[in-house]
Amino acid sequence: MSKYIYFFGNGKAEGQSSMRALLGGKGANLADMASIGLPVPPGFTITTEACAKFYEIGEGELHKLLSAELDAAITRLETATGKTFGHGANPLLVSVRSGAAASMPGMMDTVLNLGLSPETVQAMIARTGNPRFVWDSFRRFIQMFGNVVLGVEHHRFEHELAAVKDKVGVKLDSDLDENALQEVVARYMRMVRKETGKDFPVDAREQLRRGINAVFGSWNNPRAIKYRELNDIRGLLGTAVNVQAMVFGNSGNQSGTGVAFTRDPSTGDNRYFYGEYLINAQGEDVVAGIRTPNQITLAGSRAWARSQNVSESDRKRNYPSLEEVMPEIFKELDDVRVLLENRYHDMQDLEFTIEDGKLYILQTRNGKRTAAAAVKIATDLIKEKMIDEATAVMRIDPASLDQLLHPVFLKSAEAKAEKLTVGLPASPGAAAGRIVFCADAAEKWSKSGEDVILCRIETSPEDIGGMHVARGILTTRGGMTSHAAVVARGMGKCCVAGAGEVDINYSQRTMKINGVTLREGDWISLNGSTGAVYKDKVETENPKLTGPFATIMALADKYRRLGVRTNADTPRDALQAVAFGAEGVGLCRTEHMFFEGERIISVRRMILVAETVKQLKAQLAAAGSAAEKAAIERKLAAPLKQYNQALEELLPLQREDFIGIFKALKGRPCTVRLLDPPLHEFLPHDAEGQREMAKRMDLKLSEVKRLVESLQEVNPMLGHRGCRLGISYPEVTEMQTRAICEAAVKVKGSRPEIMVPLIGSVKELQEQKAIIEATIAAVERENKTKLNILIGTMIEVPRAALTADAIARETDFFSFGTNDLTQMSCAFSRDDAEKFLGTYVERGIFEYDPFTVLDQEGVGHLMRIAVEGGRKTSPNLKMGVCGEHGGEPRSVAFCHDLGLNYVSCSPYRVPIARLAAAQAALRKREG
Ligand code: PEP
Ligand code: MG
Repeated sequence: MSKYIYFFGNGKAEGQSSMRALLGGKGANLADMASIGLPVPPGFTITTEACAKFYEIGEGELHKLLSAELDAAITRLETATGKTFGHGANPLLVSVRSGAAASMPGMMDTVLNLGLSPETVQAMIARTGNPRFVWDSFRRFIQMFGNVVLGVEHHRFEHELAAVKDKVGVKLDSDLDENALQEVVARYMRMVRKETGKDFPVDAREQLRRGINAVFGSWNNPRAIKYRELNDIRGLLGTAVNVQAMVFGNSGNQSGTGVAFTRDPSTGDNRYFYGEYLINAQGEDVVAGIRTPNQITLAGSRAWARSQNVSESDRKRNYPSLEEVMPEIFKELDDVRVLLENRYHDMQDLEFTIEDGKLYILQTRNGKRTAAAAVKIATDLIKEKMIDEATAVMRIDPASLDQLLHPVFLKSAEAKAEKLTVGLPASPGAAAGRIVFCADAAEKWSKSGEDVILCRIETSPEDIGGMHVARGILTTRGGMTSHAAVVARGMGKCCVAGAGEVDINYSQRTMKINGVTLREGDWISLNGSTGAVYKDKVETENPKLTGPFATIMALADKYRRLGVRTNADTPRDALQAVAFGAEGVGLCRTEHMFFEGERIISVRRMILVAETVKQLKAQLAAAGSAAEKAAIERKLAAPLKQYNQALEELLPLQREDFIGIFKALKGRPCTVRLLDPPLHEFLPHDAEGQREMAKRMDLKLSEVKRLVESLQEVNPMLGHRGCRLGISYPEVTEMQTRAICEAAVKVKGSRPEIMVPLIGSVKELQEQKAIIEATIAAVERENKTKLNILIGTMIEVPRAALTADAIARETDFFSFGTNDLTQMSCAFSRDDAEKFLGTYVERGIFEYDPFTVLDQEGVGHLMRIAVEGGRKTSPNLKMGVCGEHGGEPRSVAFCHDLGLNYVSCSPYRVPIARLAAAQAALRKREG
């Protein structure tokens, strides 16, 4: 028989830390902490397997399965606490919390104070002598249970609470006395009966059963689903449920609650114990950001006061640290910090409660952190000998490095900007955008291409979609551990929290900051590293990639085998990529250079006459009589002149392009791809463009129109493009090759590699190669020099992959064009597939969008065939990837496993690819 419930408490636990998949992260760590004697309130964890059963067989059947174990666990908990559940003089109250194997902060449901009823309330009052506290706990319980389990809307409770506050004339919940709270409870009970048609359940067992169901049910609530989708959390059974004896942080002034990180989750700093607490409050009060909490340490408190312009005396009086208020508890908590870090070898995020002067640890987990903090913590932990280099490399999510590569405010621009206020620096980075006041608006505006800053009084899990699309987040309430701060850090998004001087008016969609009124759509800028909020858009610059980032990158380079190149078409991109560690250019798309300035005119001139020239040349070759020849030559003269003029205009321009890139690369290799896209992409489709070309080419407008139309294709992606262009118009291949070779003559030490696109048959390559080799030889002769130029091909047509053994005979390298290879092997148009791929992914037909994450089963299989075929012919054949997948961590790992030599990706993904390549190598090493 399966075991579904694991008990922990009083120095013992049935579970252990290695059982994350079964007990969830929270359950596994609670078991572990209990077993080493930390002060954890006793409880039990219902497994994720039970959650899977909940969905499989339904709640009724599940509770039949659980019943005996649940009864036994409650009895054990009663014994461990000396309390009784649902009755008796010393009633046991429990919390019921979610906890999956991957942390999903705030996304699922929680019920606190479960077990309260009119009967247990009386017993609790008799026992504690604190009726206000007991009634307050009861009204919180009805509210939470009513909302989470019974589905009564939150605002109905708010309405009743407000009515009582009005009646007794107080503003804050905390000002309600025992009688008022009793009235709140009575009103809540009546309202719940009205809303649900039933009395509020007062039987503790029923409460527990329904609480468990609600938590299991919350695994699939929309925000949890969205969170898993955004964070790519897959393959889990469900959530576990942790049922734990309640301890009360709200039982008086010797009680409190807090959240702490063993290191700074924004920066990774380890100067002091980093966290916040509230006296006389429950845990949810800190996280919900309703009251702004104080700092744990004196040093942290002083730093906070400095940043907020609070004087030392004001700080001491109104915002004292836990270290000052409860020095013994602080010391005990600090010892726990050291113990937990030494045990888990990573930064911990812990929740604690102080009940009548006694400390309890409610949870610990590896803390969410920004990428900057992740690299700092990993490198510090190496220095502190807690982890080795390989572990440090494995700890960092490659995709998160993206956060570190993006711009920060230009110092001079920031100095000049109008500072409106300073909030808490909750999640670092620079962000500028237009103000929006709700998550829906953020999603709507960003869909239409606007950068937005989401400004909220506080955020809640419903806002997750809007937070995801916003450039930055500003809140007026809440601390460094508020929902906005924690979620923003997890997303690597700039966030300024708790900016108390900002007064938001949702209904008018305005906010006032120190006399300045801003409306929806106005620009503001946030500095998430200092908490500063600026008017308008502040200019940015690229970040410096030194310190811990450089250390991690150096370690990645030490452990990776796969080379990392970049896709770059300009010297600027190439330089940027080299600064990010690119070892060369793996794909220079020459056609991108064709759009610049005047050169599009030359390109259009070339394209418009190329076909006429080709056909007349063919007729000339076939002509019989001299008269026939002469007639064709007369017809050919004008278009040929235009054609040659265009090629002559383009040659020096392309040569200069290549000189620029070769210089930027300083001897690193550069794969230059010959012209690839369908020609009509360059054509003037608008009247103005056509008129311009008619003027430049001295042709009638109608003739230009006719030529443009004649080049239209029904299916251009499978049409006249790639090497087919070079075969139709060999002069273009020759011109491009000449430009590359002449640039190589000019830039000593350059290492060009000429790449032929869209090969499907080895004969296509042979034809193009003959032109390329002849041109190289000609340039060598003219310059009396020897050039070292490789000639290679892309593998991006399935036929090329299948016949790779033959193609390998003619090539120095393969470069997989996985964009086209995906398009052609899945038969998904690169231009149109968006329309249905979302649904495909939702339904699980494809696990990921195959244009983003390489489809290993299909496209990857073709690559494997090509690698095997190619290496059979030429065992040392150099092979790489230059499709978009070259910078995507899972795809990089696949390329490593396939034994490719390098990946090539856009400049900003180079560090991601370096780290992903190192992780792939280390994973392989670990077996
Ligand atoms: C590819 O097809 O993967 C490739 C790199 O070429 P492009 O995206 O330019 O077609
Ligand atoms: Mg391609």
